[in-house]
Amino acid sequence: MEKIKISKGFTTPLAGMPDIGIIELSDPRTLGLSAMDVPHIRAKLMVKEGDRVQTGAPLFYDKRDKSVQYVSPGTGVIQKIVYGERRRLHEVVISLEGAEDFVEFDPISLSALGEVSRQVLVERLKQGGMWQALRQFPAMDTADASHTPSMIIVSLSGNDPFSPDPGVVFEREQTALHFGLEVLKRLSDRIVVTVREGSLERLGKVKSSVTHTVPDIYPAWNPGAVLYHLKKDSAENSSWCIAADHLVMMARFLMTGRYPTQKIITVTRGREHRPHILTRQGAPVKALIGDFIDRSLITTGRFNGRIVEPDDHLGFFENTLNLIDTPDGEELLGFIRPGKAKATVSKTFLSCLFPEPKEVDCTRHGEVRACINCSYCEKICPNDLMPNFIMKALLSDEIENALECGLLDCCQCGLCSYACPSKIELAQILRHGMDALYKDKQ
Ligand code: SF4
Ligand code: SF4
Repeated sequence: MEKIKISKGFTTPLAGMPDIGIIELSDPRTLGLSAMDVPHIRAKLMVKEGDRVQTGAPLFYDKRDKSVQYVSPGTGVIQKIVYGERRRLHEVVISLEGAEDFVEFDPISLSALGEVSRQVLVERLKQGGMWQALRQFPAMDTADASHTPSMIIVSLSGNDPFSPDPGVVFEREQTALHFGLEVLKRLSDRIVVTVREGSLERLGKVKSSVTHTVPDIYPAWNPGAVLYHLKKDSAENSSWCIAADHLVMMARFLMTGRYPTQKIITVTRGREHRPHILTRQGAPVKALIGDFIDRSLITTGRFNGRIVEPDDHLGFFENTLNLIDTPDGEELLGFIRPGKAKATVSKTFLSCLFPEPKEVDCTRHGEVRACINCSYCEKICPNDLMPNFIMKALLSDEIENALECGLLDCCQCGLCSYACPSKIELAQILRHGMDALYKDKQ
């Protein structure tokens, strides 16, 4: 097992660490298949309101590759199809029926896996709604099946500081994880399995699958940060990655021939220690968050998730919900308060002297200002980028300069936006720049 040394990132302890206990929620009344957490997709609907669908039946496909299907996480009737801005598909909502009725595929055993061709495996995963779990760097688009990646990075730790604990998630999934890794070996010669050092202790037998550990600094376990610190040549820039819980789902799907419907998630808030939740894929946000105050912001990642409404459903890639409170109005004379409880990157507040976990809220404490060249964004970036220079190059349409400064190495962790005292949405500007460039090349 190798150690990857990443020293930059967010180190302040945050309040809201979930308890490692687990509770199981009963089936909700509706499930949703969101298209909002799938980057670059051009969704084409295959169903209409009132249609009855089985679990695993395709609901929409990607127009760019019709064989990549997105399937129903439950059995029932299409209750509504929700569109967002410019009629972009937001989500398909299924009203659940009592008994589960699955689309069935032939199961594949571990001993038979070696006899199944790569092409058959890929087609099965595409038909079964599982291929989308594999993402390709740098734009994190769906993996291109015609390409053999130099490496596939599997992250056992999720996207967020408080993503489900790998010890809790994989304790009962050793066989599926092993099967999944065998599937990946059919797709690439190099499989890198990473986990946070702090999670190693609870991993049990799964520990033997880990190839690399990363420090407990957010976002050291992000596959984009891992790739940046491992890659040695440009061919590795288009490697793939997959979250280990998706790898387990992929394995379960192939082993049973049925779409896997459950997932473990965390819901975090301030100083609460909520247990992990075993729920359905696509569960309604409202049923997961419990009590909340109206002015809370609900995000699917503390620094880089999307903002969701209580009526939305959890996306395929999302396994954590953060309830971030928004205080009423502005803090009077906030700039001269000692800030004993405030999280601080710049060590402006007295809180930097106290080790206890800090709460974050979503007030901006001031207006957006011009860049003051303070370099906080550079000092926190895990991939040694200078987000301020990339941002300025993008805003002046100097794409070549942005690329030279490493635009394509941005792993979208969101830390630069968080650290910027001028409130500049650096991560968003970089994301838009990367997306525009990627779209142009397609
Ligand atoms: S530029 Fe910002 S979002 Fe990108 S990796 Fe660096 S800190 Fe994260
Ligand atoms: S943190 Fe913000 S203000 Fe400071 S250099 Fe970066 S972009 Fe400029």
